[in-house]
Amino acid sequence: MTHIESVREKLGADALLVTDEKTGFYLTGFFASDATVFITAHSATLFTDSRYIEAAEKEVTTCTPKVPDPSLSEEIKKIIAAEGIHTVAFEDQKMTVAELNRLKAVYNTVEFVPAGDLITLLCEHKTPEEMEAIRAAQAVGDAAFAEVLPLLRPEMTEIEVAAELEYRMKRHGATGPSFETIAVSGTQSSRPHGVPRNVKLEKGFLTMDFGCILNGYCSDMTRTVCLGKADSEMKKVYATVLEAQLAGIEAVRAGVSGASVDKVARDIIYGAGYKGYFGHSLGHGVGMYIHESPRLAPRYERLLEIGHVVTVEPGIYLPGKYGVRIEDMMEITENGPVDITGSPKNLIEI
Ligand code: ZN
Ligand code: ZN
Repeated sequence: MTHIESVREKLGADALLVTDEKTGFYLTGFFASDATVFITAHSATLFTDSRYIEAAEKEVTTCTPKVPDPSLSEEIKKIIAAEGIHTVAFEDQKMTVAELNRLKAVYNTVEFVPAGDLITLLCEHKTPEEMEAIRAAQAVGDAAFAEVLPLLRPEMTEIEVAAELEYRMKRHGATGPSFETIAVSGTQSSRPHGVPRNVKLEKGFLTMDFGCILNGYCSDMTRTVCLGKADSEMKKVYATVLEAQLAGIEAVRAGVSGASVDKVARDIIYGAGYKGYFGHSLGHGVGMYIHESPRLAPRYERLLEIGHVVTVEPGIYLPGKYGVRIEDMMEITENGPVDITGSPKNLIEI
C-alpha cells in the first residue's frame, strides 16, 4: 500500500492539503521546496513549479505531478467543485496560523479540519523500502565512525571530531547530518547534549552522537571511547551503560510498551547505584525525522509494532566528572527486532 493509499484509509475528511516539504516527500517520494499535495478519494496531485516538474514527471508514480495553470488556487478550487469536497484536513502540527488563515480565505467554501496525528502515526510504520533506506543511512554512520576512530588524537578539538564525522558521512553519500553532531570530551561529556567546543580533547571519555540523512531518511548512533586509560570507576560506569543497552535491545519487540523497555534498561542503571544520573528517556523513533514516535520512556504505554524503528540509548552522566552513552538503532521487522548499528561497543582506549 502506498503512503497516499494509507492516508485515504485513515483520513477523516474529504481531502488532505499538505504544504510541508517533508510530508510532501513522504507522500510522493519526491522532494521539492515548492510542493503542495492535494489528496482526495479520487485524485492525488503534486503541484510544483517549473524547476521540479521534469524530474517529478519522471520519478513520481503515486500521484499526478502538475505545474498549476493558471494558479494553484484555481486548480484546487476546480477539484473541490468537481468532487464535491466539503472538508479539507490540514497539518495542524506543521502549518502556521498565518498559512491556515490564508487558506481559509482562499478556499472559503470548505471547512478546514486538523489532521492531528494522521501523518505522525503513519510515519511510525516503515515500509520495507523505508527500512532499507534507514539501514543504508545507518551504514553510512558506521562507516564514518570506523574512519574517524583511528584519527582521534588528543591534539584534535571537539569541533574537529564533529567535522570529521560529518565530512566522512558526506563522503559516503549523505546529504547532511540528521542533527547537530555531538562530540564532547572529559567533563563536557557529562552533558547529554553538550555542544562541541573549540578546545582540545580532554583526557577521559569522548562521546560522539551523530547521524546522517541519506535519501531523505535519518540515522542516529552514539559511541563513547576513552582517551587514555579508564580507571576502575570509569570501567564500571561504561560496563553498566553497556549492560543496560544490551538489555534494552533484548527487550525491544512488537507487543511490548515503550515504558517496559525503558524500565529494563533503567533498572540496571539504578540498580548499579546511578539513580538520578540517567535523566533522559531510553529511546525514540527515527525516520524522515530524527525524533519521531514511538518513544521508549517512562509512562509511555503505547506498544511497539512491526515497522517501528527506535533507538536504544541509555547513559550515565556524573556532573563535573564525565558521562557515557551508547546508542544503536533497532528495526522491528516481520522476522523480529534487528539491531542495524554495526559499530563495536567494547570499551575502546585510545
Ligand atoms: Zn543520537
Ligand atoms: Zn537518539
